[in-house]
Amino acid sequence: EARHSAARCAVFTGDLDRECSRNLALIAELHRAIAGGQLRLYCQPKVDLASGAACGAEALVRWAHPDQGLIGPDRFIKLAENAGLITPLTDWMLGAAFRQLYAWQADGLHIPLAINLSARDLLDARLVERIHGHFLTWGVEPANVQFELTESALLEDPDRSLETLNELKDMGVQLAVDDFGTGYSSLSYLQRLPADSIKIDQSFVSRMMAHEGSDAIVRSTIDLGHDLGLGVTAEGVEDLETWRRLTTLKCDLAQGYFVSPPLPAAAFAAWQVPAGL
Ligand code: C2E
Ligand code: CA
Ligand code: CA
Ligand code: CA
Repeated sequence: EARHSAARCAVFTGDLDRECSRNLALIAELHRAIAGGQLRLYCQPKVDLASGAACGAEALVRWAHPDQGLIGPDRFIKLAENAGLITPLTDWMLGAAFRQLYAWQADGLHIPLAINLSARDLLDARLVERIHGHFLTWGVEPANVQFELTESALLEDPDRSLETLNELKDMGVQLAVDDFGTGYSSLSYLQRLPADSIKIDQSFVSRMMAHEGSDAIVRSTIDLGHDLGLGVTAEGVEDLETWRRLTTLKCDLAQGYFVSPPLPAAAFAAWQVPAGL
């Protein structure tokens, strides 16, 4: 018995070591990738459920790794946060997103673009200054800049987050609470946040047609958001039934594979809402 569990343990730590060294290698490479032009901006459309009109996009990072191909952020954002690389990564994203907004603006396109900020960004005393710098460089319209902050990131230091969000709001940008329903923010905190919208987490949305409980959560979150004067976006909309249900529930915006996967930024301007929506 003892020998068996020792063996299991050895296998277990062996796996951990391997994963750990893979991650260490990735961190070392990520450092160079950020500066060396290997990150790519993808944009996923958001569509108005009532009218079917395209009304903005979320900026999502991809890593064009020279050997491993396109790597998704789920594999490197956490690592970047833990390795102290989130500041350069966010700065890269701010630069890429503002550059894209500038290009759209020059073409007469007014597409709001949402940028994800991590908990570390929110705790950085220089965040507002950094964002201000990008505004000075690109001269984009603040109303077309949106920031998405996860509920759990806001809760790491709720008072400070509130302060930072108020400063961002003073710049004229839009703010969204991301992954809503997965954190434990109190309703009084939510009420004090200068947010414009909430995004219902995809874990509820993708299950809502199969589970009454998820449907109930989505339904009451939409009503809560509207009662607080907030716009409501559903993420992870994967099929027509969910789209229809969200329309019935008067959710405002939908985002998900049913509408479109994230697209390379350069392809976004030519994208059109699928017929019938
Ligand atoms: P998120 O902010 O919740 O973004 C939504 C994620 O859901 C994206 O994954 C998107 O590709 C995916 N998605 C979209 N539609 C569907 C759908 O219908 N079904 C399913 N199952 N998934 C869908 P992605 O691009 O892999 O990004 C993962 C997470 O990485 C994001 O989650 C966000 O938290 C983070 N992230 C991405 N880009 C950045 C960035 O530039 N900075 C920071 N700090 N975080 C980022
Ligand atoms: Ca997001
Ligand atoms: Ca989300
Ligand atoms: Ca998420």
